Amino acid sequence: MTDLTDQIRNNLTDVRSHIASAAEAAGRDPGEIELVAVSKVQPEDRIAAGLAAGQRVFGENRVQEAIGHWSHLREEFPDLRLHLIGPLQTNKVSEAVALFDVIETVDRPKLAGALAREMKKQDRQLDCFIQINTGEEPQKAGTLPAEADDFIRACIEDHGLSVVGLMCIPPFDEEPSLHFALLREIARRHGLGKLSMGMSADYEIAVEFGATHVRVGTAIFGAREPKA
Ligand SMILES: *Cc1c(COP(=O)(O)O)cnc(C)c1O
Repeated sequence: MTDLTDQIRNNLTDVRSHIASAAEAAGRDPGEIELVAVSKVQPEDRIAAGLAAGQRVFGENRVQEAIGHWSHLREEFPDLRLHLIGPLQTNKVSEAVALFDVIETVDRPKLAGALAREMKKQDRQLDCFIQINTGEEPQKAGTLPAEADDFIRACIEDHGLSVVGLMCIPPFDEEPSLHFALLREIARRHGLGKLSMGMSADYEIAVEFGATHVRVGTAIFGAREPKA
């Protein structure tokens, strides 16, 4: 148990120092980069170790699993910030708005409308990122780059969502920097300041290309083991 806590504390320290070096090399302030610790599929003792090490910002990709991981911890850790980083179905919008602080995966008009209505109903204004499918992969969520301008405008002007930035997951087998640069360019056109990009394998490159949020799982918590 203490071994595990030490290990995850060390991993967090390493990742933070890599972020800081990458930021400094790019002439950026490391303080403007938020580390989102991706706790999906991780057992509770690893999550507890992350909390013990002082981490407070976490990412989850499934609503139901996130409720299991986090609803009982909210009271104990009032400064938690939970990011939804996986696809959201409209029938889960109510639970998602109740649990999360940030929705990173707004990617279609029906979802944008449902989120806007639910946030009004619950009187909770969550920060939103719009997910862009920069690799135009058919199996992946996200708005296509060609449709991004209209969709971003609609989210802000028609739905009144609090859009803070853009998010992407580059194709597994491609040079991520091209995708990071594309995301940055689309955000620039709309004056959006936040970019959620970069995972365990490429977060330093993402920082070089302007990431303000990196989503790191295995480099902090270790490999995700299938549940027994
Ligand atoms: C799982 C996941 C991550 C973290 O991936 P690692 O390679 O474990 O760092 C980041 N972003 C999204 C959207 C994910 O689903």
